[in-house]
Parts: sequence; C-alpha cells; structure tokens
Amino acid sequence: MKRLRLAHLPTPIVHDARLSTVLGVDLWIKRDDATGGAEAGNKVRKLEYLLADALVRGAKHVVTCGGLQSNHARATAILACRLGLDCTLLLRVDGPASGPEHEADIRSLPTTGNVLLDRLVGARIRTITPDQYADRDETMASVADEIGSAYVIPEGGSNGLGALGYVEAMREVREQGDAFDVVVHACGSGGTAAGIALGCAAHGAAERVLAIAVCDDAAYFERTIARIVSEALSLAKLPSPAPLVVDDRSKGPRYGVMSDEQRAFLRRCAREAGVLLDPVYTGKAMFGLRAAVERGDVPRGARVLFVHTGGLPGLLAQGDVLT
Ligand SMILES: *Cc1c(COP(=O)(O)O)cnc(C)c1O
Repeated sequence: MKRLRLAHLPTPIVHDARLSTVLGVDLWIKRDDATGGAEAGNKVRKLEYLLADALVRGAKHVVTCGGLQSNHARATAILACRLGLDCTLLLRVDGPASGPEHEADIRSLPTTGNVLLDRLVGARIRTITPDQYADRDETMASVADEIGSAYVIPEGGSNGLGALGYVEAMREVREQGDAFDVVVHACGSGGTAAGIALGCAAHGAAERVLAIAVCDDAAYFERTIARIVSEALSLAKLPSPAPLVVDDRSKGPRYGVMSDEQRAFLRRCAREAGVLLDPVYTGKAMFGLRAAVERGDVPRGARVLFVHTGGLPGLLAQGDVLT
C-alpha cells in the first residue's frame, strides 16, 4: 500500500510515574500528540495512506467533514495544503449553516482552535447542519461531484485504508520495547480502534484494546469498527484483530462537552503530572481509564499503554469553560 511520510516517527513512549500513582496502573503514554507540528495527532498516521491514495488517483482537491472544531479536518487541511491539494471542509454546526452548496460566511466562523488553523491554510469551509451531517457520506459525494475529481476522505479518516496507519503504529510500539497488557485510547469514528486491534494481533504490541467512546454508543462502534476491520483485511494480509472492548460510560454529557468531574480530572492531570489532555477526546479517555481501573475492568498494576491522540487546538478553543 502506498504511504506518504508525513508523521514524525517513531513517536516516544513515555513512562508516567505520577499518573501511574493516580490511576493505580503502570502507565505508559504513546505520544501521538507529537506526530507533527500544527497538524499533529492521530489523524496524521491515517492521512499518510489516504493522501497517498488521493495523489495516486490524480486528485487535485480533497473533501472531508467533521465537527466545527474537528482535529481531523484541521490535519487534513494542513497536510493537503503542504501537498499542493485544494481542500474543502464540511463542518457541522448547531446554528444556521451555509449548507453543503455554499462557502460559509467567514465572519460567522470562530477565530480560535482548529478553525483558526483551517483558515490560515486557506481551506474552503462549508457549514452543515446535524441532519446534513447524518448523511455525511452522501453529502460529501455530491460536493465532490460538483467540484469534479475531488477525493473524499471519510469522517475521521476512518476506513480500512486509514486504519492501516494504526496497524503500523502497533508495529512501531512493539519495536520500541516489551508488549503491554492493554492499549487504551479515545474512540470517535472507529478507525484508530480498528487499526490498533489489528496491529496488536499482527505485531504482538498488547493483548487487548480498550476503546473509550466519546460519542454514540458501544453498539454503534462495535458495528463501525467491524466494518473498518473487514475493509482493512481486504487491503492487507493481517490476522484477525485482538480482543477489543468499547466502553461508552465516559462520554460525559455529550460530544465535546465534559461533566464537572471530568473537567476536574483533566485539570488534575495537568497540574499533578503536566499531562495536557483535551476536553473532547483524550481527557475523556483518561477519565474512562481511571473508571475502568476502579471497576476492576483493567487490573491494578497492569502494564497500560495510553495513546495520546492529540487534540491540543480543541483544548485551546475551550478556554472559556476550562478556566
Ligand atoms: C479523531 C480523534 C480521536 C478518535 O480517533 P478515531 O479514529 O476517530 O476514533 C481521538 N483523539 C483525538 C484527539 C482525535 O482528534
């Protein structure tokens, strides 16, 4: 499979003595928040495959979608720009939207976080409603048609091809040292989970995977991850995935919003360990890991690899609720 070298690899695996004490496990952090500069995060590993495919197919323009402050949309916009590709983002908003047919009024868009970065690299932004987002694949296909020869990247870069980025990440983990009991990470569109489960089995990086859902529910993700796994298996020769559990008990009030308890824990990780987590993904995943240890789902003392998947611009866009 063709792959561009876009990520700064290997990302470090760092032992965190302070959070190990807080959580009661032997905690190691895979620093995939450091896969790059402004584009950093887990999406870069997927985009190495997806953007390679776009170039092979002769695309001049890529289309993708996400929430308004989507990390995936931002990573795609920055890397597309660097490769000389035009980029159109369909971003979900709660209020009035331009619709998939029109560019959004620039004055209606935030000047912070991911959207600031999208704007700086000149991405074309169209805002869509939650209903339009529910039909995102169709909506993106019709926008791509309208543009002509545009390459569509699914939500979160999560298809079989994108997931190969995390199969390779687990090879990297195994090459960096001993295997882990469990890999824990935030799950938002399922591609990271699918790749990690396949990669753990293929490369012996860990026995099992705990995916902490930040939206939707466990049944939705089990279906979605199974679909992505089967797509990946049709692209690459891989063994069946390692056991994976989706835990949807730490989603908080809703996507992008933390409970007071979750916010307090995010602050505690920052103050006590200097570990900066974001409110949309990694903060909920670390909170979910702590809850899983307290319930006994992850045994005390287990050798745990927490994948820090990035999200710093999302944190910086929520300064009003985090201070
Ligand atoms: C997208 C994202 C995730 C979730 O990864 P999926 O492959 O979409 O499930 C986790 N953390 C951060 C910071 C992300 O941007």
